Amino acid sequence: MATAGANVLHDKEVMVIGGGVCGIQAALDLADKGFQVRMVEREPTIGGRMAILDKVFPTNDCSICILAPKMIMCYNHPNIDVHTYAEVKKVEGKAGNFNVTVLKKPRYVKEEDCTGCGDCMEVCTLKGQFPNKWDANLGRRGAVYMPFLQAVPRIAVVSEEDCLTLRKEKCKMPCVRACQRKALDFKQKPVEIKFDRIGAIIVATGLEEYDPSELSEYGYGRFTNVVTAMEYERLINASGPTGGHVHRFNDHERPRRMGFIQCVGARDLRVDHPYCCSVCCMYATKDAMLAREHYPDIESYIFYTDMRAFGKGFDEYIRRGREEYGIKYIRAKPGEVTEDPETKNLFIWYDDLESGRTRSLEVEFLVLSTAFVPYSGVENLAKTLGVEVDQYGFFKVKDQLLWPLDSTREGILVAGACQNPMDVTDAVQQGGGAANRAAEIIALASEGSGEKSKAKR
Ligand SMILES: Cc1cc2nc3c(=O)[nH]c(=O)nc-3n(C[C@H](O)[C@H](O)[C@H](O)COP(=O)(O)OP(=O)(O)OC[C@H]3O[C@@H](n4cnc5c(N)ncnc54)[C@H](O)[C@@H]3O)c2cc1C
Ligand code: SF4
Ligand code: SF4
Ligand code: SF4
Repeated sequence: MATAGANVLHDKEVMVIGGGVCGIQAALDLADKGFQVRMVEREPTIGGRMAILDKVFPTNDCSICILAPKMIMCYNHPNIDVHTYAEVKKVEGKAGNFNVTVLKKPRYVKEEDCTGCGDCMEVCTLKGQFPNKWDANLGRRGAVYMPFLQAVPRIAVVSEEDCLTLRKEKCKMPCVRACQRKALDFKQKPVEIKFDRIGAIIVATGLEEYDPSELSEYGYGRFTNVVTAMEYERLINASGPTGGHVHRFNDHERPRRMGFIQCVGARDLRVDHPYCCSVCCMYATKDAMLAREHYPDIESYIFYTDMRAFGKGFDEYIRRGREEYGIKYIRAKPGEVTEDPETKNLFIWYDDLESGRTRSLEVEFLVLSTAFVPYSGVENLAKTLGVEVDQYGFFKVKDQLLWPLDSTREGILVAGACQNPMDVTDAVQQGGGAANRAAEIIALASEGSGEKSKAKR
């Protein structure tokens, strides 16, 4: 936890819920304006989705290289008080003056003593026994772990569900003996923290990926070499579970021909996701570019419904994909994927618009560009905050055109991918916008109540 408030200029504080790139931007902007920010992040680390991506379009910069300095700045900013592994449990009051109760889950590690050295993880009796969700479940971790190499804060966490001691089963606890800082503490309990000076709340809880198992025609979960785009991001990432090596799961060979299927679970009424995710046409092109950079002889085929490349320089990006990287774009929504039981290669069946015939393409590896859905647990959070979500679970805004960051409750703002699928650029812009709007709400509320901020005195 960062120390509170050396340069605080205002009486009222702002709470930011969610420490992804959007929440981080909002927190930094407010902190630099002299506000005390209370950040609440549900996971043991801040960073959100961007922290586990490999590169980011449209620049193809290394994602964590851009984000890590911001994560560290946020955590160390004297005006930002970061609570990881914590959730908002109660919100009372009104715009300009909320009382918020936060529940901090036990890490079973003393935050002030842990240096993140990793010694406990090396010796854990259950080392490597559990899938690590920050590696899209392709990497393994023990019962005591750190989500990923660049996690902020660099503090270990013991999983309550997995640890033998916490499950009241036998363990010789080598972790405790290995820790020279005596930081492990299996007696920790959840802690309630109350904040009573919150003037505005920014919700930036982001997105998750849709699980395509129920769309059985694509073979996800049935066929060995079908992965989601998030799984692919971890495979091709140098700090991911395979050290950046994309390999097939049956023979560990690297693929020479890859397919990508777009709009999986998006723009699809069968799963009640009629919306476009606006990002996946671009990230599939990025993924195919990265494959070519790793393996110059690889062939990539992207099966798309429509090419949604609407941002600045996006069309040029797709053109570069086609001309410089040799990516083949096929306009078709494949109806079925089948697998050769011996080679584990995949056949993508589709209607060829040019010939009017059904064709198939054989690939060695298939990536599904899956829909974005709101972060799990969003309904509970909406209830706690007293705000509305739309029929798909994204937070509703008061008015799409005039108040694009205000939720349906005054004083609570919604920004980033929790209100709409969006890319990093838009999430950062919304974070900055929400910071300004929060400052405005506090100023208006204090004028109304006759209070003045220290800055105005
Ligand atoms: C496979 C894939 C590839 C992508 N590639 C690109 C790309 O190349 N370029 C690009 O611009 N964009 C890309 N994106 C989109 C990018 O990931 C998002 O735009 C960005 O992460 C949105 O940021 P955010 O802060 O709004 O949400 P997130 O990054 O999702 O962060 C939300 C944070 O809120 C936390 N949280 C959730 N619920 C709660 C709660 N109840 N209480 C407290 N905290 C909570 C989460 O743990 C998380 O830390 C990609 C996305 C995916 C899935
Ligand atoms: S708990 Fe101890 S051994 Fe484990 S990472 Fe922290 S300081 Fe290192
Ligand atoms: S008590 Fe045992 S299972 Fe739990 S973290 Fe330590 S070594 Fe691992
Ligand atoms: S961005 Fe492209 S792939 Fe994603 S849902 Fe929209 S059209 Fe489909």
